[in-house]
Amino acid sequence: MNDIVLDNLQKTFPNGTRAVRGCNLKIEDGEFLVLLGPSGCGKTTTLRMIAGLEQPTDGCVLIGGRDVTTNRPGERDIGFVFQFYALYPHLSVRDNILFPLCAVGAPRDEREASLARVSERLAINHFLDQKPGRLSGGDQQRVALGRAMIRKPAVYLMDEPLGTLDAGLRLEMREFIRSQQLDLKITTVYVTHDQEEAMSLADRIVVMDEGRIRQVGTPANIYKHPRDLFVANFVGSPGMNLFEGEIAAGKRCDFVPRNTSMPLRLAERYPPGPASLGIRPEFVTVRPDGEIDGRVVMSEYMGSTRFVHLDTTFGRIISRAQPDTSVTIGDTVNIAFDPEHWRLFNNDGVAMGIT
Ligand code: ADP
Ligand code: MG
Repeated sequence: MNDIVLDNLQKTFPNGTRAVRGCNLKIEDGEFLVLLGPSGCGKTTTLRMIAGLEQPTDGCVLIGGRDVTTNRPGERDIGFVFQFYALYPHLSVRDNILFPLCAVGAPRDEREASLARVSERLAINHFLDQKPGRLSGGDQQRVALGRAMIRKPAVYLMDEPLGTLDAGLRLEMREFIRSQQLDLKITTVYVTHDQEEAMSLADRIVVMDEGRIRQVGTPANIYKHPRDLFVANFVGSPGMNLFEGEIAAGKRCDFVPRNTSMPLRLAERYPPGPASLGIRPEFVTVRPDGEIDGRVVMSEYMGSTRFVHLDTTFGRIISRAQPDTSVTIGDTVNIAFDPEHWRLFNNDGVAMGIT
């Protein structure tokens, strides 16, 4: 069992930067867990403490129930995949990929089987005998990823490994990483600032901000039920539409957005007071019988969808519409909300109505 436990993990650098401020987390055996957050939030530092490349100032790391906090990296059986790789220029692609298995003295049939699986998935069979120097940058990254993932360590730790690749290859490599990980059932912690990448890969996502864990959950859970305003805004592209206002006291439960007197009828009861209301773009619809006016300020055709940016009395709202919705910049259209999908956040930015 190679589960990972982070127990009150903290890191303050000698210059006083509090990079990680007390992380508590259990990563299950065989799980693909993604650490997601903006640049500087402490993802890499957390990963480096799991790897043993950075010593925590407090708390501990357990792998497979064993406290490894003071163990050296080499004693932890970890496969670390970085953003930039280096291949051995004098070795063929085949020998580059096999290198980690040769280094641990794996038997020949295991080496051949692993090489066959990896090279087929990476579609690199046709250049196994070439030297890396002759390959394109993208193909070199492919080989490097194959080399990093051919071995079966206890844990894979990956720090933005696809960050430098172009979009097409990134999608391909995501598929490779996930299929290889599922096949070998290796507990994986994957760091990214890209929420789409996080969604596509993760069993569970950990959203981090300023050295703290904001929320842990499945991609669907995080997207549908963000625990606070930070997560609501950071996850989803574009993020949730958010309006500040007030939950009115009274018989009905109404939300009154700031700058308007138009109450919105809520589907549930919430305690009165200042609050924010959030709604995802896909639950804002442009339609003739919509009760709210919006002036079109931008219309983004994305192929499979269209984002319509609107100025309303509530502020700027983005609607996710059918791609062939015809709107003209400057026109006023009507929009409707789906009240079932409103999310309420209290004055501290914490979601209301979910436990
Ligand atoms: P992320 O990977 O999420 O971008 P990092 O873990 O690299 O974030 O960094 C978290 C914070 O710690 C940042 O403010 C960064 O500047 C700071 N930091 C990282 N490494 C060091 C270091 N060796 N010394 C001082 N501060 C550091
Ligand atoms: Mg980083």
